[in-house]
Amino acid sequence: MAGRSGLNLTHAEDLDSFLSRYGEATAWLAPLVRRFPPQALRHWAEELGQPCFTGTSGRVFPQAMKASPLLRAWLARLSVQKVRFALRHRWLGWSEAGALRFLTTEGEREIRADAVVLALGGASWPRLGSDGDWAGFVPPDAVARLRPANCGFLTALSPAFHEQFQGEVLHSVTLSGAGQKARGDVTITRQGIEGAPVYRLSACWREALLRDGRLEISIDLRPGVTPDALLTRLESFRARESQSNRLRRLGLSPAARWLLRENTAPNVTPQELVREIKACSVILTAPDSLARAISTAGGIRYDALDHGLMLKHRPGVFVAGEMLDWEAPTGGYLLQACFATGRAAADGVRAWLVKGSDQPGNG
Ligand SMILES: Cc1cc2nc3c(=O)[nH]c(=O)nc-3n(C[C@H](O)[C@H](O)[C@H](O)COP(=O)(O)OP(=O)(O)OC[C@H]3O[C@@H](n4cnc5c(N)ncnc54)[C@H](O)[C@@H]3O)c2cc1C
Repeated sequence: MAGRSGLNLTHAEDLDSFLSRYGEATAWLAPLVRRFPPQALRHWAEELGQPCFTGTSGRVFPQAMKASPLLRAWLARLSVQKVRFALRHRWLGWSEAGALRFLTTEGEREIRADAVVLALGGASWPRLGSDGDWAGFVPPDAVARLRPANCGFLTALSPAFHEQFQGEVLHSVTLSGAGQKARGDVTITRQGIEGAPVYRLSACWREALLRDGRLEISIDLRPGVTPDALLTRLESFRARESQSNRLRRLGLSPAARWLLRENTAPNVTPQELVREIKACSVILTAPDSLARAISTAGGIRYDALDHGLMLKHRPGVFVAGEMLDWEAPTGGYLLQACFATGRAAADGVRAWLVKGSDQPGNG
């Protein structure tokens, strides 16, 4: 799926700013990303024959703008390294004797391993296989609740608004709420809103909603035009002209005009109308579902792991990727942390196996 939108592998901003994107998880994640930084990820892709470029926003993509050539080259290399793939194996947890249980096309199968790396993802887009079922196989106190990240939100706007404008875009508007702002295109969904600026603010809005149950945000429908300029234009229209016509002549889309209608009386003063255009209020009631989110917040808590990302309650079992309790905005930060924690778990496995082979009787 990430490949469909160009495969934004990582980001080219300076490393300190980069690391700050992981919020509370920066404290433990930063050393791991420093050990496998954006430059190393880019180098890895390029070594696999996929040159990368940095877009104007600083996002780094393979020139092919898709995942398949990189994936093919990587699989070919792993196959030369004698990696064996066991496809169609659904992990079902552990047997009482501590073996890994799998559901396969030939029925259930148990496997014992010297070391295991779990990289089972979060719980967004479950139809791709990552459904968060694994959370039932670890002790509850090792997992921070899985929550939507980079997600849309449900609104208290009328169902008729969503029905009529579902899929339409409010172009280049500025969103403000819970003390944060972001500008960009907002897409109207069946019951809410989504899009890049919504995702950017989603961590802070989600927490505000969890705390307060509702959140009032405002939308500047004309961020590039000052209130004075809007007022001058509005006042230049003939007094007899309907409000709807005036808004149309200001270039506001049908969806934007409907939003203003939901908030204002039919014949408000031009000053009031300008205030609404610059700060149209919308109530958010909840984050949209985890299944529709780009990524997952929550997961295996860092305090349930040792420094090599090994589960303290399951020696020899390591965890990497979005299963871990961190979140980040879109922009390449997600894949970068997945690769960096994958690398850290691999280092953890190597240290664990070496330590094991030092013990008498452990060959
Ligand atoms: C539409 C979309 C676009 C995205 N674009 C980008 C982007 O451009 N850049 C970016 O940085 N990030 C992007 N992301 C996020 C990024 O794809 C994820 O953060 C990343 O794939 C997580 O990697 P992971 O290995 O932890 O988990 P996943 O990629 O989810 O892989 C987990 C795997 O484990 C398998 N699995 C789960 N449970 C079991 C089980 N019980 N038994 C067996 N197998 C199981 C799943 O089938 C899956 O194959 C995007 C996400 C989405 C949804």
